[in-house]
Amino acid sequence: MRNASKSIYDAIIVGAGHNGLTAAAYLARAGLSVLVLERREIVGGCCVTEEIAPGCRVSTTSYIASMLRPEVIAELQLAQHGLRMIPCDPAIQVPFLDGHVVPWWADREKAKKEFARISVRDANRFVEVDDQLKKLARYLQPFFMEPPPEIDTSSLKGWSDLFRVGKRFRGISNTEIAQLVSFLTGSLGEFLDHNYESEKMKTMFLANNVYGKHGGPYQPGTAIGLLFHLLSGGEHELQGFYGHVIGGMGSITQALAAAGKRLGVEIRTSVQVSQIEVRGGRAQSVVLDDGTEIRGRMILSNCDPKRTFLKMVAARELPEDFLFAVRGIKMDGPCAKVNFVLAEEPRFTGTSPSATALERTFYTLVPSLEFAERCYDIAKFGEIPEELWVDCVVSSNADDSLAPAGKHIMTCFVQYVPYKLREGDWDEKRELLGDRVVQKIAEYAPNVPGAIVARQVLTPLDLERTYGLTEGNIFHGDLRLEQLFFMRPVAGWARYRTPVKGLYLCGAGAHPGGGVTGAPGRNAARQALRDWKKGTFKQAA
Ligand SMILES: Cc1cc2nc3c(=O)[nH]c(=O)nc-3n(C[C@H](O)[C@H](O)[C@H](O)COP(=O)(O)OP(=O)(O)OC[C@H]3O[C@@H](n4cnc5c(N)ncnc54)[C@H](O)[C@@H]3O)c2cc1C
Repeated sequence: MRNASKSIYDAIIVGAGHNGLTAAAYLARAGLSVLVLERREIVGGCCVTEEIAPGCRVSTTSYIASMLRPEVIAELQLAQHGLRMIPCDPAIQVPFLDGHVVPWWADREKAKKEFARISVRDANRFVEVDDQLKKLARYLQPFFMEPPPEIDTSSLKGWSDLFRVGKRFRGISNTEIAQLVSFLTGSLGEFLDHNYESEKMKTMFLANNVYGKHGGPYQPGTAIGLLFHLLSGGEHELQGFYGHVIGGMGSITQALAAAGKRLGVEIRTSVQVSQIEVRGGRAQSVVLDDGTEIRGRMILSNCDPKRTFLKMVAARELPEDFLFAVRGIKMDGPCAKVNFVLAEEPRFTGTSPSATALERTFYTLVPSLEFAERCYDIAKFGEIPEELWVDCVVSSNADDSLAPAGKHIMTCFVQYVPYKLREGDWDEKRELLGDRVVQKIAEYAPNVPGAIVARQVLTPLDLERTYGLTEGNIFHGDLRLEQLFFMRPVAGWARYRTPVKGLYLCGAGAHPGGGVTGAPGRNAARQALRDWKKGTFKQAA
């Protein structure tokens, strides 16, 4: 173990979200002294397991591990540090109000057979589309584990990056280019209408592909989720992997913290960084709420870009056009979370009596694309939709260690609620949102309202206040084309470096974006290490 408290650290990480912890572990692995500072009393950011009633633990924010990078799992030996995931099977399951529950089985042949009960034509098309999507996702995959290309044709580096990108697409056909462009810019709704005849089939795809994003399914740019969800994830690098984490999502960040500590990372919780001090254009130190200053040769911020640059760095240290671009990052919601402890298992109408506990875990309540589109329209004008889209995971069915015998945990993601309400505020509307979620669930699982023992409602405002997410945005910035790749967080600053020398962004607001992936953390650490090896920071501070 390396020395605990130091007068100067090689690297200070602001925030112990999963990306901050990932970056810390990689930097320590390379021999740097690393300090992580977290404002909450626990590590994990929005990848945590928390007790919401005595003995009842919930993945309060993120709840399914679908994109955690296999490289991070293997290189940081997360399995040895206690990480265990079991595949969600079905990966998605949609109950309809006619009593038909449609599971999307992880095994493709089994899924095809299930879908053939809805439409034989759609089931055949499903296989073709799945092949096409997986192939296109494989073209994008390598870009996720490296800084995005520098699109600057006035420099040699820019040209060599463009050449490198071009080589990645060697062999791509005209048709595939057209498909790729339409996935990046087109709407999910139009793609589904073009490919499938059955509303139920379209709803299955809808159920997983616009989470956390702005825009109803017919908004241009929403088809991109289809490719994002087919990037490989999990220990075995499976495309389209969905996993339940044993012990809840917090087991991921506990494993990352344990891996980091083993490598010498020092982690302090309940310490809020109020300022990142810059002198002569270079990051020097962080100042805590109580005025303590801690010096670092480099500083990596795991906080979102708005929090980092508009709250922690003095405006005079940043170029005006950069600040203007940061202020323009689209965030504002659009989701919430409601967590329940139940006295009995939810009984979703239509579930097969022979379904195993794991098969009774995942239920997405969204009846159609039109419903989703209307829901977004209402939310975008600042209102809480009366009819909500709710994704329910009965996590105690996948992991009975989360609650004592006889109690059940259900965690519910709510898609499309506004951050800014047209009337009133979230403190007065919090329980209304909770009630509407219960009302929606009751349409599908009538025993739920009478079984509630505890309920925790996290509005976009709560996500901001408690988890430090500016405007409640779960991805540190909406995942839309103009905020991705070389434009994330803003054009010109997508390679983890910032206008302040020695200050890096290592969270979801950096490329490749949100979700529990570990990719921004790993990529940022590697970029910082490349600069470190050039000797840039040795004499700093
Ligand atoms: C409700 C919800 C549901 C989600 N569902 C899923 C899901 O099922 N699957 C999935 O893959 N992704 C999901 N996500 C998205 C995913 O969880 C996030 O995109 C990802 O965890 C972000 O990780 P991060 O490490 O970049 O940032 P964060 O987890 O946001 O970590 C940033 C850390 O910085 C700390 N911090 C902030 N300010 C300061 C300060 N001044 N000083 C010190 N520390 C500070 C914060 O407390 C926090 O710990 C969900 C997110 C939410 C909120």
